[in-house]
Amino acid sequence: MNRREFLGSTLAAVAVARLGAQDRPAALWGGPVLDIHLHLRQNIDSDFDHIEGCGVAKAVLLTNVNAQDRAKAAMAKYSRRFVRFASVDVTQPGAVDLLTAAVKDGALGFGEIKSQVEADGPEMRRLYAAAAELGVPLTIHFQEYAQPNSPGTFNRGLKRFDAMLKAYPKTTFIGHADAFWANVSADYANDTAYPIGRIVPGGVTDKLLTAYPNLYADMSANSCNNFLNRDPEFAATFLLRHQNKLMFGSDCGCLDGRGGTAPGAPASRLAGKCVARETLTVLKKLAPANVFKKITWENGMTLLKIPV
Ligand SMILES: [Zn+2]
Ligand SMILES: [Zn+2]
Repeated sequence: MNRREFLGSTLAAVAVARLGAQDRPAALWGGPVLDIHLHLRQNIDSDFDHIEGCGVAKAVLLTNVNAQDRAKAAMAKYSRRFVRFASVDVTQPGAVDLLTAAVKDGALGFGEIKSQVEADGPEMRRLYAAAAELGVPLTIHFQEYAQPNSPGTFNRGLKRFDAMLKAYPKTTFIGHADAFWANVSADYANDTAYPIGRIVPGGVTDKLLTAYPNLYADMSANSCNNFLNRDPEFAATFLLRHQNKLMFGSDCGCLDGRGGTAPGAPASRLAGKCVARETLTVLKKLAPANVFKKITWENGMTLLKIPV
């Protein structure tokens, strides 16, 4: 075999491996895993490399309305491995119309919604009404404390969010990001992104999840990983208590599902690690097998109505 033939056969083997992998159940975690929070990347193969690398069977591509075609291309190329949500800056004119069109075209939800507004302001209220009308959930990034990797504050006012959960009972809300997870502890004062130390029971997030059937939780990113690790004893009881409302997600930016990062990637608590792997590992440790299965597969598949 000369060099060209060798290269040709190697590339063919890689292509076959990629295609063959599309239906391979993820063996790493003892069952299939759904990642409800993965962002569309510049290159759709990179999204696939990520889910393959960390043992994820299926991922929700949270994608701006302007990039829905690229999400569709990923779904077409890697059959049954991706579904999509649609996101938009809610302050832009026609935001609701753009989201509605994306859902009518196959997006399964709104998200993630990350705009510099009040969570109970008029822009968000329009979205809550539209999501209920369309029968799709929406994922909200709650952030009260600006940080270098995410400057600004977004969907402010989780502490008074019960009013929205009450006012929009037909809307399915999925909470995400630092304020959502920091508020599991009753002493959170919006003064840091990733608080550490023992949880003070009775926090806003815990109470809202208990009181409102229309609120679910997205366990992605440093924010939830930090929550799971700061007080594992408390976290284990939380996982049991809310086992039907928690959904695994990664929000991971690593390249290969193994923690490989691009040069110049921002430093963080999980630098050099894959958030998906880190969070799945701690979930596996803290949750009984049946609860792990609900959180990493069943809850999301049911809520998003993804055909098995
Ligand atoms: Zn976010
Ligand atoms: Zn990763």
